Amino acid sequence: MEDKTLLQVTNLRKYFPVSGMKGPGVQAVENVSLEIKKGETLGLVGESGCGKTTLGRTILRLHEPTSGRIIYDGRPIFDSGNFDVPTLDHEGKAVLGADGKPLTHKSKKCAVDMLPYRRKMQIIFQDPSASLDPRMTVGEIIGEAIDIHKLSKNKAEREEIIKDLLASVGLNTEHANRFPHEFSGGQQQRVGIARALAVKPEFIVCDEPISALDVSIQSQIVNMLEDMQESMGLTYLFIAHDISVVRHISNRIGVMYLGSLVELGESYELNKHPLHPYTKTLLSAVPVPDPEANRHRQRIVLEGDIPSPINPPTGCRFHTRCPFATEECKQSVPEFKEIEKGHWAACHHIEKAE
Ligand code: SF4
Repeated sequence: MEDKTLLQVTNLRKYFPVSGMKGPGVQAVENVSLEIKKGETLGLVGESGCGKTTLGRTILRLHEPTSGRIIYDGRPIFDSGNFDVPTLDHEGKAVLGADGKPLTHKSKKCAVDMLPYRRKMQIIFQDPSASLDPRMTVGEIIGEAIDIHKLSKNKAEREEIIKDLLASVGLNTEHANRFPHEFSGGQQQRVGIARALAVKPEFIVCDEPISALDVSIQSQIVNMLEDMQESMGLTYLFIAHDISVVRHISNRIGVMYLGSLVELGESYELNKHPLHPYTKTLLSAVPVPDPEANRHRQRIVLEGDIPSPINPPTGCRFHTRCPFATEECKQSVPEFKEIEKGHWAACHHIEKAE
């Protein structure tokens, strides 16, 4: 992992309007800010419906953001405007004011053409069978991306690239002539990964890439993604609902609840010393390999269902299910702040939850 920030997301929101309804609609992603370093894996966990997939797709602008700022490799790819940004000189260095502090100015609105970024920013979908066109052969599926981005000079080179990609994901050359339904779920996901790799991306959103697969296949796919990260220098946003999967492959983990990021920290630290009550609930549900210890572990069971993102609770969105909720939690939104170095959480009463 390098020290360079590849992706920076600031105050990102994604609301889906609901026809016939006044107001913002479905508030799927609410005010999310995060950074991902080059070569890093950031795991993103939370219950189904918490907005993690929508966040991944909004970062790639497969969903157009409602507001916020997305910087990829130092360049804004979306900005709803009015953010404080550093003023740079023509060499890209920060301009200092008379007091020696860096000057800032307000950012302008922008939404760049994503075609050049589609090469750099890819996605592996959750359901491999639904994400592959059943009328196309595997060779056509992988070749489509090569054609769109004009990555081969002629047919022979195109065939060679497809062959290499199939080999890199553990498939054979003759698999190129078969259709998706002729493959198992694990093999279909390998095709999905080959398709994402066809354009030589730098950043991949892995959207629950193993949750639709048998347990025996899951570790093969995870190991393959890890090997590829090492050999190709890839950066991952790895989305999963199971924190026990994410913690093994992630450098850092972000925990989402009802559209908001509630905790973010280094993987080991977050697992050993979770700060937010919701993270503690997720971790308490992870089975322990020792049957004796498993029998005596304390599980935290939340009352009630996750509220609707159309009408989320006031204040802290978790207050309707949190055992430590107070009147303050119902009234004011907790700030997402750095509690310890590199360990962030949004909670008014961290000390109570400890
Ligand atoms: Fe619970 Fe309040 Fe913390 Fe929210 S802010 S997690 S309701 S204690």
